[in-house]
Amino acid sequence: MRGLLLGSIVAALLLGSCAAPRAGIEATAIPASVADKARCASSDIAVDTDFAAGALQSCVIGEGGAIAITLAPEDEPPINCSPWYAFRVTPAAPVEVDISLSYTACGHRYWPKISHDGVVWTYLEPDQVVVAEVGESRMARLNLDSDGRPFFIAAQEIVVSSTYEAWLDSVEPHPDVKRSLLGKSAEGREIPMLNIGNTLAPARETVVLVGRQHPPEVTGALAMFPFVEALLADDELARAYRARFQTVVVPLLNPDGVERGYWRHATGGVDLNRDWGRFTQPETRLMGDLIAGIHADPARKFMLFLDFHSTQNDVVYTLSKDLETDPVGFTDAWLAEYQAMLPGYEVAERPGYSAGRGVAKNWIYEEYGVPTATFELGDETDRALVRRLGTAAARAMMKTLLETPAS
Ligand SMILES: [Zn+2]
Repeated sequence: MRGLLLGSIVAALLLGSCAAPRAGIEATAIPASVADKARCASSDIAVDTDFAAGALQSCVIGEGGAIAITLAPEDEPPINCSPWYAFRVTPAAPVEVDISLSYTACGHRYWPKISHDGVVWTYLEPDQVVVAEVGESRMARLNLDSDGRPFFIAAQEIVVSSTYEAWLDSVEPHPDVKRSLLGKSAEGREIPMLNIGNTLAPARETVVLVGRQHPPEVTGALAMFPFVEALLADDELARAYRARFQTVVVPLLNPDGVERGYWRHATGGVDLNRDWGRFTQPETRLMGDLIAGIHADPARKFMLFLDFHSTQNDVVYTLSKDLETDPVGFTDAWLAEYQAMLPGYEVAERPGYSAGRGVAKNWIYEEYGVPTATFELGDETDRALVRRLGTAAARAMMKTLLETPAS
């Protein structure tokens, strides 16, 4: 069984109290917009989602104790099928647990992970999961022996505001880190920000990193943590980088969607990564203003924008090769360096460009002419490899930027 420990994050997540099993069989079906309140219970077992990122639409405990869970997107239609689920099971005693996951849209995608503490996650074993096509939809059936302790099942490791807070606490003592807030989300949650750079001699050239526009895209976050840690390393490359470049890091742009276990959107019902340029949502507006401020500041030069996401496979979405960027040729040099650092691994790049769709990568290039990329990690990429990729991408970026003529 593979252990999925969240790097250096050691603080326990605030996942709320355990639900006590209640007498009788009951079912609760509630609107998806408040899906974080869903629960069901019998005298033997209870299911709840009363914790950050907890989400299901409805659950029913049948005769014999089988748990039938239905998952639904936060609104219709989901423009991208990232069918998130996260729930807690509290058995009254050791018992064999049988859970079915059905979907009102998209069908099953993420291999189920299990945790007893919300920090250390493991994959369910292949013999514990059956994925089957039922009619037009793909559903999953989980079967496991519980030792009687409560446990969490989720589409991916639960990486929520408290996880980011613990991580920010771990990097904040670094002398080249300044922690602040970008602002607040539509529901008033904090959107944290880090400025990285040698504070004794403020650097002019500025790199912007953003993460978690899309709530279920946890592997992007798991790569972003080591990426940023590599920028803070106590070695020659990272020191030289911090002396010359500023890095602005916004690791959690959509805390509301993450908290609510949304499949795609923020609470305004909009995909944040289709809102750049339009800026109808407070979260994207904050990012737009941040970058406009960097661009307008004569003491700074906006150099590069990277956006961390997840999809089925590891891939770097870059700009079309015919587009000229400033600095010239950064992306090809960066990815060549990245590939050179990863013997036995094949870097996948997909260049493309379409203006007017509100995608950060394209809009920022269109507006500022800097190199941009969407750095995507696979849903089920081995977590040790995810860390390696995050570190290598950062080191390749630092090396490549240091080779560009100072501007
Ligand atoms: Zn995404």
